[in-house]
Parts: sequence; C-alpha cells; structure tokens
Amino acid sequence: MIDQQEHPVAIALHELERLSLEDALATRGHQRFHARQIFRWLYRRGVDDVAAMTDLSRDLRDTLAREFAVSTPQLVVRERSTDGTEKFLLRLADGRQVESVFIPDTPAQTFCISTQVGCAMACAFCLTGKMGLVRNLSAGEIVGQVRVLAGALDLRDKAFNIVLMGMGEPLHNYDETMKALRILADAHGFGLPPRRVTLSTVGLLPALERLAQEPIMPNLAVSLHAPTDAQRGELVPLNRKYGVADIIAACRKFPVKKRSRITFEYVLLAGVNDTPEDAVRLARLLAGLKSKVNVIPLNAAPGIPFTRPSDETIDRFAATLAERGVLVSVRKSRGRDIRAACGQLIVEGQNRSAGQKLAIAMS
Ligand code: SAH
Repeated sequence: MIDQQEHPVAIALHELERLSLEDALATRGHQRFHARQIFRWLYRRGVDDVAAMTDLSRDLRDTLAREFAVSTPQLVVRERSTDGTEKFLLRLADGRQVESVFIPDTPAQTFCISTQVGCAMACAFCLTGKMGLVRNLSAGEIVGQVRVLAGALDLRDKAFNIVLMGMGEPLHNYDETMKALRILADAHGFGLPPRRVTLSTVGLLPALERLAQEPIMPNLAVSLHAPTDAQRGELVPLNRKYGVADIIAACRKFPVKKRSRITFEYVLLAGVNDTPEDAVRLARLLAGLKSKVNVIPLNAAPGIPFTRPSDETIDRFAATLAERGVLVSVRKSRGRDIRAACGQLIVEGQNRSAGQKLAIAMS
C-alpha cells in the first residue's frame, strides 16, 4: 500500500490556473504573488525546471520540487513542408502522441493545436476520425503544445494565433479546453487574448449553447460541410443527433463580437456537396447571419472514399456563394507534403474500432 504521508502525490503545476496555484502556495505558507513569477517562468520564459526559477526563494523552490511536478510534451519529430508549414509530433507523459502544426504568415503566425488523442466524431473524410477517440487531453497538455511550439519556433514573446483545429473535437472535451484557454489568456503567462483563438466544432449542440455563456470567448468556426441533413448526415455522423437547422439556430443566437463573424467550414467533395445548387442552398441557410464560409477542397488520403473537385468546380462553388452576398474564402492547403493539412493528422498505432467510435460520438 502506498503511504500517502511519505509519498504525497505531486501536484501538476502545468495543470493549474493561476488562482489555483495561488491557493496551493498559500496553503503551504507561501505568498500568493509567487504564482505570477512561476507563470512567467513556465510560459513566457519556457523554463519547466523549478530549480532554475532563480528569483524564487530557496524555501519555495524546495516546496515546489517536493510537492509539485511539471510535465512538458516531448518533441519526437519535427517536419517542415516546402511551404514553411511545420508539423510537430509530441509524446505525452503516458506515451500517447498528438500532432500540432505551425502555419506561418496566414497573415499571422498560427498554431493548430489538438484537444484529444484521436476523435470520436468519425467524419467520413477525416483521417483523425478513423482513429476513434483514444482519450481527452488535459488542459495542461493542450497548453503544453503551445509551450513546446512557441519555444521551438522562438515565438514566446511574439503575437500568435491559435486554432483548435488539430486532432479532436474541442467541445467534446469541453472543461479541459476552456481551462486551457483561461491558462493561455492569463496576463502573467502567454497573455493570449481570446480573439486570437478560434475554436472549430462539428456542432455539439449543448456544448455550443454553453460556449455562448463563457467569459473567455474564442472565435467560432463550425464544420458544416453540407446545407441539408440528408447530405450532412452521410458526412458527419453527429448530424443524426444535432441537425443543420438546430446548429444554425444556435449560431444565430451566438454572441458574435463587433466586426467578427462565425466561420462555416465546408469541405468540398467531388460529386457530393459541390454543385451550384448546394451553394445556393448554403447561401439561403446563412442569410442574415454574421458569417463567412471557408471552402476547404478535400485533402485526399488513402482510405478516404472521396475526391477533390476540379479547380473549376471549386471556383464556381465559391463564386456562386459570393454572388449571393456570402463572404467566402477558399482555404489554401498548407503542409500537404508532410501530411499536416486539414484532416490529415493521425498518429499510427492508436486505433480503436469503428463501432466504439460511433458509440462515443452519439453518446
Ligand atoms: N473537430 C473539429 C476540429 C477539427 S478541425 C471540427 O470538426 O471542426 C479540422 C477541420 O478540417 C474541420 O473543418 C474538418 O472538417 C476539416 N477536415 C477534416 N478532414 C479533412 C480533409 N480530408 N480535407 C480537408 N479538410 C478536412
């Protein structure tokens, strides 16, 4: 039996919001303000060894070393695309792996971050979806990706954007994702304003409604992909539970800030959702919504039973939307040569069965 007295369980420092760290310090007889110094070391300076936090007293460093632990994702592989995009394969404390992507100059520097190992949503065209859900990431692991990328790219002091568009469905890991955004926003850490964060979701309705109430509110992107339930149900299994009309109604109620819009992502699949009639239906669906459509031509991959439409079809689809007053952009695919593009993030050897995937997606 483990003797809790002699071997107290270490507190994971990297999982704590600053106020919780203050509480933990106060309980141990230390001043609360040291939490700010610790946040600066960990996030702004990238120091995760408490012994190296030299402006803390010896006594405090001893407490931290004895009762706290910091875990940082380990960089396993870093790959660079010809277009400057970089993909990072990171190993977590339990040996599971996730991928994070750096996309330079779009126009800002952007980190594409994962929120789960794998994903339960099983969208028909997405490679991550083929993995099924392995597990949720903790807030510290979500922020840990930012710590590693900011360090590796020397961007810790620079402005960067974050898109929660890596592996996983952020709203399916709601609490840890929101906690991660609070840690990232802390003025003594990265100080990342929520307007620099975009959360992309397949439309988990109850969580979307909850998100509308959050004090720290990221930009919203909704993976719509089709204007009708018949089409979307074939692509996004969750649509059988939360349909197009419900999602759009929730978006109409969503508090969108001034000069901001909800992005609707639309993966364009040849012969499935790419006709001018589809574009007209989509434009009608979004009428009156402060929105923009991001058309994402499919990134094809082995095992994905769809093809990318021709450039002509892509242009016609975008033009049909634009003619009807919809703000539209076509996502330039980045990092395809290193499989870092949308829907291409997958870590081998962590698969689950398809049945399990769907059970989780629909639960
Ligand atoms: N689960 C969230 C976050 C993942 S974001 C969501 O679905 O929004 C990943 C984005 O890439 C989504 O819009 C997704 O639909 C898109 N995507 C997935 N597979 C793709 C593929 N093969 N080609 C292009 N885009 C893809």
